[in-house]
Amino acid sequence: MSRQLLLLNETLRLQDNPLLNVPKSTDSAYAVILLNQHQFEQSSPKRQALQAALIADFAKQLAARGIQLHCYIAEPWQQLQKLIKAWQIELVVAATPCAIDEVRLFDKVSSLCKVQLLDCNSLLDGQLAPDYQRFPKSCSQFRSQREPELLVSAPIADRCCPSAFIGNGCSPFTSQTETNEQFAAEYSSEGASKRWQNYLQSRAFSAYLQTRNQLYGADYASFLSVALAFGTLSVRQCWQDLQQGPQHPSAVWLKQELFWREYFRHYFRVHGAACFAEAGLARRAPLPKFPKGSSTARENFRRWQQGETGVPFIDANMRLLANTGLMSNRGRQNVASYLVFELGVDWRLGATFFEQQLLDFDVASNWGNWAYIAGAGEGPARHFNVMKQSLQYDKDAEFVSLLLPDINSTLTGPAKHRPYPIHGSTPWQESWAPYLP
Ligand code: FAD
Repeated sequence: MSRQLLLLNETLRLQDNPLLNVPKSTDSAYAVILLNQHQFEQSSPKRQALQAALIADFAKQLAARGIQLHCYIAEPWQQLQKLIKAWQIELVVAATPCAIDEVRLFDKVSSLCKVQLLDCNSLLDGQLAPDYQRFPKSCSQFRSQREPELLVSAPIADRCCPSAFIGNGCSPFTSQTETNEQFAAEYSSEGASKRWQNYLQSRAFSAYLQTRNQLYGADYASFLSVALAFGTLSVRQCWQDLQQGPQHPSAVWLKQELFWREYFRHYFRVHGAACFAEAGLARRAPLPKFPKGSSTARENFRRWQQGETGVPFIDANMRLLANTGLMSNRGRQNVASYLVFELGVDWRLGATFFEQQLLDFDVASNWGNWAYIAGAGEGPARHFNVMKQSLQYDKDAEFVSLLLPDINSTLTGPAKHRPYPIHGSTPWQESWAPYLP
């Protein structure tokens, strides 16, 4: 194909990026980032700044090779129609999507020109791609079937042909968002790759199995998620790095975690729109206690968002999210369970809020985990006893004391986990009684 549009949205890297492997025979190629305007505008300022910083950094890397990155924030279908027409595009090349609205977008695009989708952000593609007709019902089944086969092929050598690319597009980022150098330093290809290599060499990595359930701090986990969500690192490269190092229990566990990510990516392609349905895949997820839009649901949701539920463990995690744009996996599981089961709110509101706030937002990992906890996925619901979890994972209440210094300030140690009065009441559940410090 001689006129190509390469959509590089979640593949912000030069290394192991098959989308950039433009054959020499190509007449012209356009490197494009097209952000969904509605989604972008709903994101937190922190997330917008991160996205802008990473795109600006990628634009610089491409510019150093003489390639112009054309960036748009618009309604995707309308913008793609315009570009395809204006540039007389014959082929659109993009990463294989997970979410149904992107799948539909590419279906529409295929009525205008050819579309080539490459699964460049998954571990299993090509011959290793799962059989979607017989997709396993759990991540552990999926892993035990697929992991033995998983010898990731060497990351693709850079075969990019800069002379094919067309310049004179718009400036790298047309929004008013301030970019943030710190973000670029941490999460750009260069920053994330340095951080990952340092992590692999560190003692922190060998302790991952023991520390992965911590709630905050440096290097208690890999911190790969942001770079994987934006594609500044190649997941296949990370897998290969793990595979080539010593297979100690932490390395094995981390690969297991990468399989959760992988599972949700394929699960989304198998189940499509059902992944976003309130009652879930089997239409048997428990419905929320308070109907969406009711004043109780609205008020409960607001308190949860703002970290004002009266449960220190929940409020500390929600404030951490507001301060940093991130939350540990343990924290995410607990706040999700609390919103759905104690506050009786539709799980999809929580998933949407996370989508707007999380720096590492990834459609399949986020919505897949929410559905999993709410019982809208394949298995039963996961209802956590928040008081038990507080004491298990924050035994000395260091985490809640750090995030909520004024709460339960007359108490010491584990007692700081006691629910506290807020908005005229103190939350209470019978199931907490055996664990109350
Ligand atoms: P590590 O523990 O070091 O794990 C390494 C990598 O494995 C992660 O970067 C991630 O790619 C993958 N991984 C680990 N656990 C999971 C999991 N449960 N599901 C899918 N992948 C996993 N992760 C996201 O990347 N984006 C999201 O939007 C997201 N939303 C979530 C929402 C909820 C309600 C829950 C319970 C979990 C969510 N996760 C999400 C999964 C997990 O919490 C994060 O991947 C993890 O906390 C990121 O930190 P890390 O990179 O240090 O993880």
